[in-house]
Amino acid sequence: MQKKTFSNITERIKSIQKIKGLTKKEIKILLTPKRISRAKIKVRNHIFPAWRIVFNDALGPGKGGVRFHPETNEDEVMSLAFWMMIKDSLAEIPYGGAKGGVRFNPKKVSSQTLETVSRKFIDAFYKVLGEDKDIPAPDVYTNSQIMAWMLDEYEKKTGHHEPGMITGKPLELQGCSLRANATAKGGFIVMKEMVKEFNLNKRSVKIAVQGFGNAGANLAKMLHGNGFKIVSVSDSRGGVYKKDGLDINEVIKIKKQFGSVTNYSKGEKISNQSLLKLPVDILILAALENQITEKNASDVKAKYIMEIANGPITYQADKILFSKNITVVPDVLANSGGVIVSYFEWCQNKTGNILDKDYLEKLLRKKLTNSWKKVISLYKGNKKQIDLRTAAYIIAIERVLAAEKLRGHI
Ligand code: NAD
Repeated sequence: MQKKTFSNITERIKSIQKIKGLTKKEIKILLTPKRISRAKIKVRNHIFPAWRIVFNDALGPGKGGVRFHPETNEDEVMSLAFWMMIKDSLAEIPYGGAKGGVRFNPKKVSSQTLETVSRKFIDAFYKVLGEDKDIPAPDVYTNSQIMAWMLDEYEKKTGHHEPGMITGKPLELQGCSLRANATAKGGFIVMKEMVKEFNLNKRSVKIAVQGFGNAGANLAKMLHGNGFKIVSVSDSRGGVYKKDGLDINEVIKIKKQFGSVTNYSKGEKISNQSLLKLPVDILILAALENQITEKNASDVKAKYIMEIANGPITYQADKILFSKNITVVPDVLANSGGVIVSYFEWCQNKTGNILDKDYLEKLLRKKLTNSWKKVISLYKGNKKQIDLRTAAYIIAIERVLAAEKLRGHI
């Protein structure tokens, strides 16, 4: 991963300043985190750095996942918190942006240590968390069990029940029936809009998916089940390619059994870098940040890219892709299904009402198609001279700045 992800964000906002004519004060508000909380989590003789960052809370309490990863750092967590601000604003849900992280390798520790780290994360930050302050959720290498430990620790510390302080919980602890594959579901809804908008034929398009975790594998499964052809998938150990299409259900079984898609024997083994260069129609990025940079952007052959991961394309790479006429459906739109369903969960927790699953599915579709229409309409209104990301950012930034103005901060 590149060291300075946030410098990409600064460049993007500056480029939007040129289009929108933002003032210096507005730029400062958009690029300054509201609160950075830091901690050192001690487990026996190890010390793991940890962060919880609220980037902006003008539209509501902080909202964003917690990442457990051996390479996470403050720059990454801050960038992820910024993107949550944009995403929540675009989705018109009543949240600001936040994110958390602990730097350690959760794959190399026992379940007991994982629980200890999760509880210690809450011990360190419980005072700045809460259903009306800042609400964590799962992200890379965290899951509903970890949310359950975190909730339990928070309630022990504060002495009362407050399920709305965290989302992505198991159903028994007042989670939401839609949450488990909400991000993938959202990605699928956005994909269908994209296919319709750009007149693509789902039977003939070829798709490659980088990242085969909660978001990537679930989305691949939905696409496969709906007649889309997925020719390549990858995880952190590498990828597989089959020209005529992979049987995704089989790949999922193999990954569960042996730990990696590379154990799937009916396809050709390829590296993660070569997956990005495959002659496909649609490339889905569902792993980590900074996967397409100025170094490999010119090699991309796909005509459409969907960002399910947060920040997989750098600012410089975006410019190259735009010049090559490659359409990028940005993360803040394509993966917003996760946080929208987190919002449903939070609403249920705050009111005590359990909403019908079909109703929530409809609401998710409505919210995402709404976001899609807003973004496409601004893009077309600008005669396609801006990319979809810039359109999404402009819409989101306008709401954040309007809230800041109403609060008298500008
Ligand atoms: P996950 O931990 O379930 O899966 C991550 C996957 O990426 C794994 O298969 C891993 O092997 C793979 N991976 C890691 N490094 C890779 C590399 N260099 N090349 C290829 N694959 C690699 O995580 P997830 O929840 O699926 O999240 C994936 C991305 O989606 C992250 O950027 C996350 O922030 C974003 N996202 C997730 C959600 C969600 O609800 N899960 C919501 C919004 C955004």
